[in-house]
Amino acid sequence: MNASILPAALTGAEPAPAPQQDFLLAVEGLTVSFDGFKAVNDVSFYVDPDEIRVIIGPNGAGKTTVLDLICGRTKASAGSIKYKGQELTKLSESAIVQAGVGRKFQTPSIYDDLTVFENLEISFPRGRSVFGALTFKRDAEVRDRIEEIASLIFLKDRLRERAEFLSHGQKQWLEIGMLLIQDPELLMLDEPVAGMSVGERIKTAELLNQIIKGRSVLVIEHDMKFVEDIAHRVTVLHQGKVLSEGSMERVQSDPRVIEVYLGH
Ligand code: ADP
Ligand code: MG
Repeated sequence: MNASILPAALTGAEPAPAPQQDFLLAVEGLTVSFDGFKAVNDVSFYVDPDEIRVIIGPNGAGKTTVLDLICGRTKASAGSIKYKGQELTKLSESAIVQAGVGRKFQTPSIYDDLTVFENLEISFPRGRSVFGALTFKRDAEVRDRIEEIASLIFLKDRLRERAEFLSHGQKQWLEIGMLLIQDPELLMLDEPVAGMSVGERIKTAELLNQIIKGRSVLVIEHDMKFVEDIAHRVTVLHQGKVLSEGSMERVQSDPRVIEVYLGH
């Protein structure tokens, strides 16, 4: 029998491939250029399930653009973004949401003239109920879920309040709630505590630490105290490239990071 037609694994000619690690998100060689300017330049990083990853770096480093690429708002020039093994660079923005990726932008996009309850209600995914036409069961299911999310985001007592009367921080939490109600497995937040009080920042850290069972969070943030409170690992971007990566302690003591970012 001719051994050369057998798969290598059967002949023992080559070592078995290393087991594929189960990253929730694997970004490899990600690049985008705007008129020849590479805003993101050969970026690779890997996010584990149940991980909070924080991306830090100076203004213009390419942080927001990385989130734009992952959520499909911007198309990559090169590289790959695998989410649960599925290539995202070929999918539309809505297909990426459907796949389980939620994204919060820097400015809140809630409906000021609706109540907190209504804002959460309109974000509840349609057509997912197993009860079909039995609307009263569906209504109960939606109500339970809204109450559950409202207590997570510290707004259980504000459900009947119009969103315009919430504080800036509460509006940010409401928007996080509007994403959570869709149960994304990857939640991406761009500077979620900007403009928040110290107390609100601490509560936001609590919130993020509570929601990561069964999901990962990718956060861009400048507030180093907040980063310390939430980050499992930190990725530092600078001029479109990964400058450093690791635990908060490791990144904070990296001379290159101190030079371009933390030293200022
Ligand atoms: P960060 O979020 O780290 O502050 P950004 O990702 O917003 O940085 O921007 C990175 C660089 O890419 C900046 O120089 C910015 O001006 C540029 N940039 C971002 N989006 C576009 C775009 N759509 N067209 C042209 N340049 C862009
Ligand atoms: Mg930004």
